[in-house]
Amino acid sequence: MGDRADAVVVGAGVIGASVALELARGGRSVVVVDKGPAAGAGSTSSSSAIVRFSYSTVDSVLTAWEAAAMWRDWEQHLGAIDPDGLARFVRTGMLIFHTPGDNTARIERVWNDVGIAYELLDATELHHRFPGLDIGAYFPPKRIDDPAFMDDAATEMTAIFEPLSGFVDDPMLAARNAAFAARRHGAEFRFHEEVVGFELAGGRVSGVRLAGGATVHAPVVVNVAGPHSSRINRMAGVTGGMRIGHRPLRQEVFTVQAPVGLRLEDGFPATADLDLGQYIKPQVGGTWALGGTEPACDELHWVDDPDHFDEYPTVEQFEVATWRAARRAPEFGVPLRPVGLAALYDVSDDWVPLYDKSDLPGFFMACGTSGNQFKNAPMAGKYLAAIIDADAAGIDHDEQPVHVTGPLTGRSIDLGAFSRRREPSATSGTVMG
Ligand SMILES: Cc1cc2nc3c(=O)[nH]c(=O)nc-3n(C[C@H](O)[C@H](O)[C@H](O)COP(=O)(O)OP(=O)(O)OC[C@H]3O[C@@H](n4cnc5c(N)ncnc54)[C@H](O)[C@@H]3O)c2cc1C
Repeated sequence: MGDRADAVVVGAGVIGASVALELARGGRSVVVVDKGPAAGAGSTSSSSAIVRFSYSTVDSVLTAWEAAAMWRDWEQHLGAIDPDGLARFVRTGMLIFHTPGDNTARIERVWNDVGIAYELLDATELHHRFPGLDIGAYFPPKRIDDPAFMDDAATEMTAIFEPLSGFVDDPMLAARNAAFAARRHGAEFRFHEEVVGFELAGGRVSGVRLAGGATVHAPVVVNVAGPHSSRINRMAGVTGGMRIGHRPLRQEVFTVQAPVGLRLEDGFPATADLDLGQYIKPQVGGTWALGGTEPACDELHWVDDPDHFDEYPTVEQFEVATWRAARRAPEFGVPLRPVGLAALYDVSDDWVPLYDKSDLPGFFMACGTSGNQFKNAPMAGKYLAAIIDADAAGIDHDEQPVHVTGPLTGRSIDLGAFSRRREPSATSGTVMG
């Protein structure tokens, strides 16, 4: 393909590879450039890859619901069988504890509207189904050095249970699968190539400049650089036209031995425990992944330079995560040695992603994915393709927001909900979205 293409995608994570797949499927010649060594090797490789539908806005719920059908039939979505194997959707269901001021009433309304089945579980039912859980309500979440951490529960909790959620067992493989499928439509992936600038011509973007001095010319450039995407937007000079900003946030996720009775193979679901401030993901092999839900008591660690951040999890956060787990599951054995990772989210001001054009003609973005968009990657690819097609047809997405019809529900999804110029979402302020 040489140094010219119809579109250049910056970043080969699960979302970049999905954008490349949909653009290539639509007949465009696509070059994907990534400074890393392989598809999915960026923040995608650290993802918990939970697939759930508990967002606070209807367009986000529809996006996740539609995308889940694609994960369930990944081979059909890709239209290809990757000889390296396919990522697999593992169904667990999702348990969401009710907490004061949470979004569960709103979520129920949207789920009723979309047709997502769920159950309301009272304390008796929670005891019955999950006898190994302590269902005491300890809200608000606390650090473990807070003397109130060990206070008795004020009352017992109730919850929503949604049976079709789960996780994708290998997020990096998922990105590689999407890249494989994109290649079958002619997309070219170039690794170890860093974008360091942009070419402009006639008031539009006309290509990317690479660190080695080479240029790839294209009338369409899509920024899907994950935690580096705010830097790329600054480089392109498009941040002035954005009402919603985004920046990297450091996160730690720990892997621990799950207590017997509360393992994946025991039927224990993924759990949003906003009462204690974390999520639990049961994993293949009898472990849990423990991640945070940004409770007010946990300091947020914003990162200025995504190339230089502490990549090692801290003992301090490990102790917080494991003591919270022990509070919820009395049989949980607090491990002695931290096992886990530290990685970056690319968090938008309102924790809703940016799938949009920009004020620079030809320059598009799929970023601000806020720790909650792995699951939506297959739809994000379709969204960017729809916005880019509309733009090519002379439609101004800012004035006339593009809609995409969900293949599963037939419902129209308003992509204006993911605009850089939107009013910040009032209902989303954490990774729950
Ligand atoms: C710890 C953690 C847990 C998460 N858990 C969940 C979850 O349970 N469920 C969920 O739905 N989502 C989750 N997410 C979010 C989800 O994983 C991300 O939204 C998604 O993986 C982002 O994919 P991406 O393709 O946009 O970015 P990335 O995978 O980060 O890819 C960006 C790519 O851009 C490349 N790049 C950067 N700068 C340049 C440059 N200048 N030139 C060329 N290439 C460049 C990088 O090398 C990288 O490969 C989680 C994220 C993290 C970090």
